[in-house]
Formats: sequence, C-alpha cells, structure tokens
Amino acid sequence: MMKLRIRLPLLVVPLITAPLLLAGFLAFVELKHSAQQRGDQQTQLLLDRVDAQLRQLIDSAGANVQLFAEDPLLQKYLLAGDAQERYALLQRPLQRKLSSIQGVFPQYYEIRVLLPDGFEDLRVDDGALANLTEEEGQSPFFLAMRGAKRDANVNLIAINPDNRQLALYVTRAVHLIDLSLDSYNATPQLRGYLSLTVSLQALLDTLSPSPWPQGGMLLSDARGRPLAASREIEHLPGLSQLDLSPLTSTENAERWVQLADQDYLHRARRLSDDLWIHLLIPEAVLLDESRTIGNLVLLICLAAIGLSVPLLLLVIRSQFLRPVERLNKALASLGQRQQLVQVPVQNDDEIGELSRSFNQMSLALYQSNEQIRSLAYSDSLTGLPNRLMFIKTLRREIEQARQHGGRFALLFLDLDNFKHVNDTLGHAAGDRLLVKVTEIFQANLRGYDYLSRPVGIEVGRDMARLGGDEFTLLLCHPEADQLAGPVAERIIAALAEPIDLEGSECYIGCSIGIAIYPDDGRSVEDLVKHADLAMYQAKTRGKSTYQFFSSAIAARSQERVLLDQRLHSAVEALNFHLQFQPIVDSRSLRMKSVEALIRWNDPELGMVPPDQFIPIAEENGLILPIGDWVLEQAARQLVAWKQRGLPRLRVAVNVSSVQLAQPGFARQISRLLRKHQLGADELYIELTETAVLQGREQVLGNLHALRELGIQIALDDFGTGYSSLSYLQTLPIDILKIDRSFILNLQENNNGVILSAIITMAHSLGMQVVAEGVEDQSHLSFLLAEGCDLLQGYLFSSPRPAEEIEQLIGQPLPEARQDTAQTCGLVGPG
Ligand code: C2E
Ligand code: MG
Ligand code: MG
Repeated sequence: MMKLRIRLPLLVVPLITAPLLLAGFLAFVELKHSAQQRGDQQTQLLLDRVDAQLRQLIDSAGANVQLFAEDPLLQKYLLAGDAQERYALLQRPLQRKLSSIQGVFPQYYEIRVLLPDGFEDLRVDDGALANLTEEEGQSPFFLAMRGAKRDANVNLIAINPDNRQLALYVTRAVHLIDLSLDSYNATPQLRGYLSLTVSLQALLDTLSPSPWPQGGMLLSDARGRPLAASREIEHLPGLSQLDLSPLTSTENAERWVQLADQDYLHRARRLSDDLWIHLLIPEAVLLDESRTIGNLVLLICLAAIGLSVPLLLLVIRSQFLRPVERLNKALASLGQRQQLVQVPVQNDDEIGELSRSFNQMSLALYQSNEQIRSLAYSDSLTGLPNRLMFIKTLRREIEQARQHGGRFALLFLDLDNFKHVNDTLGHAAGDRLLVKVTEIFQANLRGYDYLSRPVGIEVGRDMARLGGDEFTLLLCHPEADQLAGPVAERIIAALAEPIDLEGSECYIGCSIGIAIYPDDGRSVEDLVKHADLAMYQAKTRGKSTYQFFSSAIAARSQERVLLDQRLHSAVEALNFHLQFQPIVDSRSLRMKSVEALIRWNDPELGMVPPDQFIPIAEENGLILPIGDWVLEQAARQLVAWKQRGLPRLRVAVNVSSVQLAQPGFARQISRLLRKHQLGADELYIELTETAVLQGREQVLGNLHALRELGIQIALDDFGTGYSSLSYLQTLPIDILKIDRSFILNLQENNNGVILSAIITMAHSLGMQVVAEGVEDQSHLSFLLAEGCDLLQGYLFSSPRPAEEIEQLIGQPLPEARQDTAQTCGLVGPG
C-alpha cells in the first residue's frame, strides 16, 4: 500500500493544478477574444481616421482653392488680354504670390494655373518635381474638370504622372467678367483653372505606423487596383499584383490574404466613389498579443501552481503527516520502552485530540504496566520484593561486586514455628503473622547502626519474601562479613518476643543462614543454595540461631544428597528389616508389647539409623512406601508369633505425620487388620507430637477414625514439643510416651518433679504412661515409685530381631540386659 506521504501529493497536485489550468485556459480564451475585439475596434478607428483626414484634406484644399481663386492678382492675370502684359508684367508677381502660398501650405506641392484650353500656364511646385506634362487638355484630370459646374470644385484622386505618386487634385474653374470689355451684369466667362495637387502619400505616411508596426495601408480604386501603399509595405513582393477587388465589392468586409509567405488580415473601406483604403496586418502581429496573453496566463498559472503546491504540501506535512508520523513513532515505542511515552499536543484540532487520547492511553498503559510490574515483582501480602525481584537484585549486586571487587552478605531467614501457626490457627492468621513479622523487621532494622555507623538497610528494598515463611536480606556493605552476625542476632532477638495475634501470643522464632559473596558462591544459585543450607543447619542445631555457611555444611548437604539417592534404591529393593524393642509392664516387669523399629543396612553406607533417613524420606515422600512396608511387616510378624502359639503381644508401629495426612490412612489400617485377621487391640500406632500439632483436619480425621476402629494411639517423644497436656486432652490419645531425654537427665532441671507431674496429669486424663530410655536401676526405681505404667529401654532390652524377641516373651526382663551390648549393633544408645 502506498504511503500517505506519497499518496497525498499525488492527489493534491492534480487537484490544484487542474482547476488552475482550466481557469487559466478560460481566462486565456476570454482575454484573446477581448484582444481580438480591441484589434477590430482599432482597425475600424484607423480606417475612420483615414477617412476623416482625407475628407478634411479635401475640404481644406477645397476652401483654399476657392480662396486663392478670388485673389485679385490671379484674376487680373487671367483677365490680361495681351500676352505681353500677362507674361512680362503679371506672371512674376503671381508666381511669387503662389510660391508664398505654397510656403504656408507645403502640402500643396503643386499649384497650377491652367487656361481654359487645358494649357498649363503657370506652375509652382516644391522644386522636387519635373513637369512632364504641360499640355493637360486631354488628361483625364482636365476632362473631369471641364465637366464641372461653375463655382464648384472638382476633386480627383489619381496618380501624378510627374512623380508616379497618388495625388489629390483639387481644381476650381475661375469665371470672371472683364469689366473693361463687358457690361457689369454680363455673365462671367471661364478664364482659366486653379489647381492644387496634394500628396496622398504623405497622408498614408502620417497615418502609419499603425498600432501594428509591420502592417500597412493601401489605397486603391473602386476596381481594386492599388494606387498607393504606405512605406512599411510598399516594397512587399507581390503587393502590386494583389487583387484587392474582393473587398471593394462589399463594404467593410475582411479576409485573409497571403503575401510573401505570410498571412495578412485584409480590411477595406470606401473613402470616395473611386477610392478605397485597405489595411493589411500580418497575422503574426495580430496573434502576438494573444500569444503574450497566453504566455502571461500560463506564467501566472505556473507561478500559482509552483507556489501553492509546495505550500500545500508543506502545510499537509506540518499539520498532518508530521503529527501522524510522531504518533506512529510514539505508538511503536509504546511496546518497546518502559518509560512513559507522550507526544506534544500542538493544536485543538482532531490531531490534537488524537494526540491527547494517545497520551491518556499511554499514561493508563504505563500505570497499569507499573502496577503489573509491581505485582510481578512484589509480594502482595507483605509488600516486600518477591522471589523474582530478589533474583534480579541479587544478580545485579553480584555483577556490581564482581566489577568493583566488593563483598556482600546474603541472609536466608526461615520462621521456626510458622507452620504450626498456619496449621492450628489457619492460613488467614498465618498471613497476618507474616505481615506482623515484616513490620517487626521494619521496626528493628531501620536506622540500625553498628559501631556507630548506620548499616543502611532498607527493608522494602533489601529484604524479600521468597514464599511461605522464607525471607532474604541482602547486606550490601563494605563490612558485610562482620555485620551479618550482629544483624542476624538482632533479627532473632526481635522475633524471640511473643507476637500478639488477635489476642493469643505466638512464639515464632527465626533461623538464619548466611552466605558471603564471593567466598561462599559467585552465582545466584550457589549463594541462595548455600545460605539455605546454612539456614537448614541452624534449624537442626536447635532453631532461633544463625549459621554462616561452611565447607562442613556443604559436606553435610552432599551427604544428604547421597542418602537421598541411596534411599531411593533401598525402597526399590525393599532393603529394610524390622527390629522390635520390648515394652514392659511396670508391675510384672514382663513384656506387654513391642515397638517395631525399622533398620536399613545399605550395601554402600552400611547401617543408617532411622533418625537420619526418616526425615529425608518424609521430605522426599518415600516415607509412604516405607511406612506401608513397616505396617505390613509388623502385621505379618504378629501373625507369625500367633501361629507359633506364643503368648499374646501387642505391636506398636511408628507412623509419620505424612502417612497420617493421607486421606485413606485409617481405612488402610482396617484393611490390614482384616487381611491378617488381627484384632484392633493387637496393633497400635505411635506418632510424634509434631504430627499431632500440625493438626491438619486430615490428621485429626484419621485419628478419630482409628479410635473408632478401636486402635490405640500413643504420643511419642512427649516433652520435646510445645504441646500442653490441656491441648492433648482434646485429642484421641490413649498412651503418653515420655521422651527419653527426660529419663536420661532425671537429675537435672527438676526433671523428676516435672515427670511426676506429667504422670499424674496423664493418669487423670485417662492415659497410660510409657517411659522411654530406661537404662538403669535408678530410672526404674524412680518410674516405679511414680507409678509409670510401662517401661522401655536398654535396661530391659535393646531393639532385637523377631527371633530373639520370641525367647524373651513371658520372662522378667532386667536379666536380659547383659545381652544388650552384643545385639544392639550399630544402633547403640544415643
Ligand atoms: P522412637 O519412636 O522414639 O524410638 C525409640 C528409639 O529409642 C529407638 O531408636 C531406640 O533404639 C531408642 N532406644 C530405646 N531404648 C533406649 C535407651 O535405653 N537408651 C537410648 N539412648 N535409646 C534407646 P531408633 O530405632 O534409632 O529409632 C529412632 C527413631 O526413628 C524412633 O524414635 C522413631 O521416631 C523413628 N523410627 C524408627 N522406626 C520407624 C518406623 O518404622 N517408622 C517411623 N515413622 N519412624 C521410625
Ligand atoms: Mg516410637
Ligand atoms: Mg520415642
């Protein structure tokens, strides 16, 4: 498609030029017509003028000849009877007199006195003329004159034979009475003629040049024979042969004739009976004016076009194309640039309106872009930068530090008990908590100074929320290495305070891992991974602490990766077995039940304790197949013992929170019991405090379903978590298993007092109490004294293979203690 830049001029140029040329043409036609009319008028005027002048010439010559004819000297001369008197006495004075008349009227180049017989008696001329004819008696002139009346002039226009020029002869017959001879009243007798010869050539010459310099005039007789021509044309070849008769037959007509290869306009007018005036004007001269007019009109048109077209194009360009181009450019850059694009609004016209609309649209787009950007780069809950923004910022910091050899610290923060709040109080409360935590960061890090120098942390810029309860803090400071520790301490201290969450106080805590650029990593991935690992390490070290990344941590994480890999192959190969640890009745000291404990003997890693691989399995999901396997094995073992007719034994199976969170867990257990035809009282499950505390509806649902099936539930490792007995009261728990750390450190921190209180309260809640980690007699004595129902520990037996358990059934167990060292193998105490 052709561009407007080209199309508009293509449209505009003909639109302007066509009407202008048409107007020019019409003007030309009109002007030409009026020029022709003017030409006509001028020729008519010219002919009129010739006519008038000739008449005047004749009239004045007539008047003069009459006047001269009455001259007494002339009359005396003509009356003189004797030749002697006439020629000797009168001729000279008369000649002088006529010469003086001629001096006054030079146009009468001949004044003649003729005798009645036609003899030219006296002649006065201008001297340039030779008198070829003295005897005029037979000349046409004289013949015409003789026929004239008395006292009347005779005018004759004819070629003067003396000079071959056209001449006007004005002649008067002089009649006189000779008083010396005749009576007074006698009739006057013809005595002679007085004749004036006037040059008509002069008339022709004074009339030309006409308005057409190359044109000329011609006199002809009535038959169209040329008599005289004006100077301009007299030498034109072919003029003498020109037949003028076609015009002399019709008055005032015109025609075109050709003379010397040129066209002439020929006009004629009758001046007298036998005299015609002709006008010959070359066509070129006539057309000259129209040509000039045409050229002038053309010039005006071209000038108008030449002026208006560029002007219009200029106007189109500046008023239309330029703004459109500007808009176009702005539109194109709208998609590319991040900045606000605006175009100048120059006028209030449609383009101005368009520009204004564009600006509004651009502004709206820019604002919504900014909004999208801020949504894309900030965390909607806390308003902190999000993961995307954090990665961007970190990448930029790395680049800057790389260029300038700088250092900085990346702090990786993870809230310790966020999951608990989320699970117990709900997500909405969890969200409010995150907002409060952010406020605490703001309040504690703003203007924070170290060694009286401000660190310059800006929470809204340097902190980010990666998701969940994970935060990061970038410490871009020349002394980041030394500052990171104190900053972490400050954060931990701030979060150690209880947070008020709609009335209830929450202890949230925070673990922080720190990685330093460039020592702990030079890429985004490495720095984040290492700070995360350090944070993980801080958590395992006991929460609410911070940890710098170290090579040891890296090694541990590698170990973890290896364990993860090996665990996958172990699950595939089902490379596990179960051991059982007796749980003894405190009154009979006989085995009442056993706890099934998983063992993994890896071909590469050797024996791996469950404390190490169970958390990994819980993270990677392998705990589900492992848990299924344990349940199945435990059930089979029970069946095997039953089939061998051994005394009745219950089996406790450890169940992970991940298993309990599975919707069909309770049904799975009931299917298992049915499959192996076991009673609900033959198997019970142990779950850790955290599993219950995570308190998700699914877990609680499963627990209640299990209780309905008649399966007992033991709460393992009680005392390590944060649950209170009053909270546990609401849960379907039958057995409380006190963590072995209480028993092992019985002497410390009033543990004994606490323990006895726990046992009393648990009993009052209708729960049985099991003590783990009973290792020596002192433990046993204390627990027996406090009325603990069941006992478990190396004092009675370490976990053992099923065959060995069979031998212990029905026996009092402390005696078996000696075997412990040999059987517990790698899974020793601790
Ligand atoms: P737990 O359920 O508290 O198991 C008791 C742990 O205490 C066992 O360690 C046992 O060997 C150890 N123990 C028993 N008596 C004494 C003693 O007198 N002194 C000392 N110091 N320790 C004693 P084990 O077998 O290494 O298991 C560790 C933990 O691994 C278990 O703690 C349990 O939480 C988990 N676990 C073991 N087997 C399974 C399983 O099949 N499924 C799940 N989910 N967890 C399991
Ligand atoms: Mg247990
Ligand atoms: Mg335990």
